[in-house]
Amino acid sequence: MHEWSTARRFGPRDERTRTFRPSVYALAVNERGQVAIVRAPDGTFLPGGGIDPNETPESALAREAMEECGWRIAVGDCLGLAVQATSLYEKPSSFFAISIVDDTGTPTEAGHTTLWLPPDQAAQQLMHESHAWAVREFAGRIGPGIRTIRPARRIIGFHQDAEQHWVADLECGHTQHVRHMPPWQLRPWVLTPEGRAGKIGLELRCAGCADGPTVS
Ligand SMILES: [Zn+2]
Repeated sequence: MHEWSTARRFGPRDERTRTFRPSVYALAVNERGQVAIVRAPDGTFLPGGGIDPNETPESALAREAMEECGWRIAVGDCLGLAVQATSLYEKPSSFFAISIVDDTGTPTEAGHTTLWLPPDQAAQQLMHESHAWAVREFAGRIGPGIRTIRPARRIIGFHQDAEQHWVADLECGHTQHVRHMPPWQLRPWVLTPEGRAGKIGLELRCAGCADGPTVS
């Protein structure tokens, strides 16, 4: 397990009094081994932030991921701890592997942009030394074998299920319902051979290919 007593400390070492602000950050690695960082009005950081008094690290991370990146996430293992001092704050920070369950594409807080970069480039952009340390230390470990997002898979065909609903066959071998069920789901194209033919090659996000994070 990880212990605060042995956690690395980053930032200025003077004796100034700082506000204690427990914080939590995410390491998300995509299929290309790139790490997600967030450009915000006040700097570039790993996704995450301060833990509110009523929150666990996991629930704080889930909230921050939606606010900053528009992601619904699954929180995996705690990878490590570090203490980041800034001019105002003392931030005991925990770093978690996450997987993105759903990318809504719409952060709920304005002014945040998610960037995916190779780990060394991500580390150079990050404002806090502790974040750069976490990327250098952990990104490689959660790279292999981790699928952090529902990967895009091409449609290669269609079939109907027992209830005559249309199902897309994906290149990965998984399937996905593409129902036309007005007024809830509108896909009139799926009812005609021409409509279906026009969607061959279209990419869908495959839940079957998205796993929770694992740490090697
Ligand atoms: Zn799949």
